[in-house]
Amino acid sequence: MFNLFDPVYWLFAIPGLLLGIWAQIKLSSAYGKYSQVPVESGLSGAEAAREILDHAGLTNVPVEEIPGRLSDHYDPMKRALFLSSDDFNGRTVAAVGVAAHESGHALQHQAAYGLFNVRMALVPVTQFASAAYLGIFVLGALMGLMKIALIIIIATFAVTTLFQLVTLPVEYDASRRAKEQLFRLGLVHEDERTGVSKVLDAAALTYVAALVSAVLQLIYLLTLARGSRR
Ligand SMILES: [Zn+2]
Repeated sequence: MFNLFDPVYWLFAIPGLLLGIWAQIKLSSAYGKYSQVPVESGLSGAEAAREILDHAGLTNVPVEEIPGRLSDHYDPMKRALFLSSDDFNGRTVAAVGVAAHESGHALQHQAAYGLFNVRMALVPVTQFASAAYLGIFVLGALMGLMKIALIIIIATFAVTTLFQLVTLPVEYDASRRAKEQLFRLGLVHEDERTGVSKVLDAAALTYVAALVSAVLQLIYLLTLARGSRR
């Protein structure tokens, strides 16, 4: 029933895959370009994040350096901001843009922004669902209980899709808050707005691709379920 050689599967999978690849290329190119452009304020990503957090009264939220490329994130459990070495130390439009975006998540947390809280609540559920997914698939296949396995897999996929759906506005809102603070505090200048927007828009596009991919796979699974009922 789950057949990678099923052409219908690829009909649903390919658009998401292509969109994902395109988004990654766009992000690599925008990030690559603007991580070569020095920011006029001379601030590093870490310093820009510190400015934004301190101005919001979040002096207790630390900004730490972590390894990896584009591994930047805000951890709501630790209430801490983690920036990749490139963005932590970089004094570029890209580094400051990404650092401000992650600070935007800290601002959402502080403001108890509704969707941010929903997303946070969905994290453990989604982690469980994606961990259980493969186990159920293998177990179902081994026991020949494909019908039950299919229903459970659809449920886990629905959870993941819901998570992607909630993530999208949260990401756009973090970027909106980031830009607002960057310009209000004078951390980037007028002529650097385009660069910041291009990097953050390209990053957001990867979340759009993830959502489209998840929705299409869910639709595929639902068509399988319909087919198996006949
Ligand atoms: Zn984000």
